[in-house]
Amino acid sequence: MPSDRESLEELPGVGRKTANVVLNTAFGQPTIAVDTHIFRVSNRTGIAKGKNVLEVERRLERLIPKEFLLDAHHWLILHGRYICVARKPKCPQCGISDLCEFKDKTPATT
Ligand code: SF4
Repeated sequence: MPSDRESLEELPGVGRKTANVVLNTAFGQPTIAVDTHIFRVSNRTGIAKGKNVLEVERRLERLIPKEFLLDAHHWLILHGRYICVARKPKCPQCGISDLCEFKDKTPATT
């Protein structure tokens, strides 16, 4: 697969935007900048527990397959922003509730 935008744009059906997405996700730096959302979600779920952001970052970077690292960054942020929110996580609506290790999950209302 070509790794520069000009070569990608020569492929049928690939415009500048698609080329940029491919470059970002397939050829970007596989790093995760742990913000408050990623830190919370990682610790609650148990996917990468850590006492500080650096610990969480190192665990995530070690555990997440490289090809998913850039996307995982966005997925974790969005999950923390809209579902696993800080005060009252929306556990009854959460798609990974069965996998999550958080002890104080929000119960479903009846
Ligand atoms: S089950 Fe609750 S605590 Fe666990 S990830 Fe989902 S929203 Fe967050």
